[in-house]
Amino acid sequence: MDDRNCSIKDYITGYFAQEDHALKHAHENSLASGFPDIHVPAHIGKLIYLLAKLKSPKKILEIGTLGGYSTLWLARALSPDGKIISIEIDPAHAQIAKSHTADFASLVDIRIGNAAKSLASLLHPGEAPFDVIFIDGEKAEYSAYLEQALGVALSGTVILIDNLIPKGEAVDNPNPRNKEASAVYTFNRELAAHPKLETILCTTIVGASGRIDALGIALVK
Ligand code: MG
Repeated sequence: MDDRNCSIKDYITGYFAQEDHALKHAHENSLASGFPDIHVPAHIGKLIYLLAKLKSPKKILEIGTLGGYSTLWLARALSPDGKIISIEIDPAHAQIAKSHTADFASLVDIRIGNAAKSLASLLHPGEAPFDVIFIDGEKAEYSAYLEQALGVALSGTVILIDNLIPKGEAVDNPNPRNKEASAVYTFNRELAAHPKLETILCTTIVGASGRIDALGIALVK
């Protein structure tokens, strides 16, 4: 455990990323419902909210809803006539996420489906393109999500991608048996060289251990 990193995370969260009632409820009820504790921490919720808000978005797409915690942060970045469509593969997760985002029902649309296979089939005519896309689903599917996301993006779309430094592995040289970490590092190479994107990985501090992770921030050329 890195105590100094934890202190820095708590310091930033305390001053800059306080949760309101809806966010607190989503966090606590996700844990009580037996969800893994893997949604974005509050300070990264605030970061994706602000990055999204810079675009004055009308349309946001999220891939990987889980309990709707990051959905709530992103919904706040929308203009009043905006909409966030969030795709979740697990119907049980989607149902709980709907209850967590009920106060924002006019802005939030949670759909069940596999965004890695055919994202377009989960959207209605006119819903794409999106101003902001947040990817935070199955790590092994990140390449597929990105390809699908680019199909519903335009020049200027901001694509945010969570968890790009895998836990507990040598950087850029993970144990090949760790399929998830291997997939993320392979994805990062693809991201760095992608001809349609300008990208940076922004380091973040996550988890009770205070480990370093990264949020990818990509702009579609
Ligand atoms: Mg994540």
